[in-house]
Amino acid sequence: MRCTSRALKPRAFGTSAYTADLKPSTGEGMRPLTQCIHAGSVPDSSGGLVTPLRTTTVYARPAGATGPLTYPRYLNAPNGLAVAAKVAALEGAESGVVLGSGMSAISTSLCTFLGPGDHVVLSGNLYGGTFELVRDIFPAYDIHYTMVNGSSPESFAAAVRPSTRVLYLESPSNPLLRVLDLPKIVAAVRGAAKHEVVAMVDNTFATPINQNPLKFGLDLVVHSGTKYLNGHSDVTCGIVVGSERLVAQVRTRGRVWGGALGPRDCAMLERGLKTLGLRVAQQNANAQKLAEHLEAHPRISRVFYPGLPSHPDHELAKAQMRGFTGMLAFEVKGGKAAMADFVGRLRLIGAATSLGGVESILCIPAESSHAAMSQAELQELGISDSVVRVSVGIEDPQDLIEDIEQAFGL
Ligand SMILES: *Cc1c(COP(=O)(O)O)cnc(C)c1O
Repeated sequence: MRCTSRALKPRAFGTSAYTADLKPSTGEGMRPLTQCIHAGSVPDSSGGLVTPLRTTTVYARPAGATGPLTYPRYLNAPNGLAVAAKVAALEGAESGVVLGSGMSAISTSLCTFLGPGDHVVLSGNLYGGTFELVRDIFPAYDIHYTMVNGSSPESFAAAVRPSTRVLYLESPSNPLLRVLDLPKIVAAVRGAAKHEVVAMVDNTFATPINQNPLKFGLDLVVHSGTKYLNGHSDVTCGIVVGSERLVAQVRTRGRVWGGALGPRDCAMLERGLKTLGLRVAQQNANAQKLAEHLEAHPRISRVFYPGLPSHPDHELAKAQMRGFTGMLAFEVKGGKAAMADFVGRLRLIGAATSLGGVESILCIPAESSHAAMSQAELQELGISDSVVRVSVGIEDPQDLIEDIEQAFGL
């Protein structure tokens, strides 16, 4: 059979017919709730309002075609582009790229700008996976690092070396929700360096609804989309956004490191993102209610929530964030045994790892996210063994409060 049948002519099923659909809205001029719905959405030639799911890994390439290949691992397949455009719009970024996990987004971004002999300055108390990457993997590639404990811009500036290529921050932090002064730290580091330093921040805890770090002079924002962005605890994904100049470099590395997210998960993530604004607003409100209730509670010794005036970073959070997040932590009176007893009696709020989903869950940082740390390290961070972290969901807050009350036997 000769391959010249009409069905195989490029025009019939080639990229030209297909790209006619691909005109995502940039979301420019829209407010965040509207961007969640419309930015990045791809009009479908069938008239469908939902971005069509393109599962194909095979894209026509007529003989003589020039320009970039389309291939999902190259991070340029349509469902990934739709999601990247949506999150970029929400972060006020020019460009973005979706990857297969938060750690893929973090490791790909860091390793794009760091090579042998280079140095990175990081905030202390990092997400466990990031900490492991830096402490256990970077030395094998001769990448040097300084983790800055504390939050003063001067201490970040003091860590800068001639070989410093990247500044990497996480705010608010896990689990005590300490907030870093992003604009001041970035300015201090830029002042101390005589060369370009790429400034990145992990914005997973805040979400683009509560905080847009690019406004403060940061260059790249990374997210574990597994958490709030997807929000339904059923997709593992990550995203990097920033200027096209930098994101293009991440994409170039990322396509050979192979961390692409498959199109079905991209479509799930896009659906999740449509309710990001609504979910986060409810999570912020629920967490505030819960934090105020717990702070007045006779069985609780301390509450860590940036929305409370008692939080050491309350004023900073007010200046830098639009909402105080759905994450909070508290310390149960009576030590570890009292805490374990309380947690064991909860019925609605389940003990589980991860965060950012529609369901309220809790974890004990000393036994989970921070289990690798020594007692001394935990003490330095202020994380006692009776600290409980809650990822507040979108339930009716009264049901959450009643669950806590019954667990205390009240
Ligand atoms: C979960 C998480 C990550 C890693 O994301 P994965 O999707 O699990 O790879 C990175 N940073 C923060 C703050 C997280 O909570």
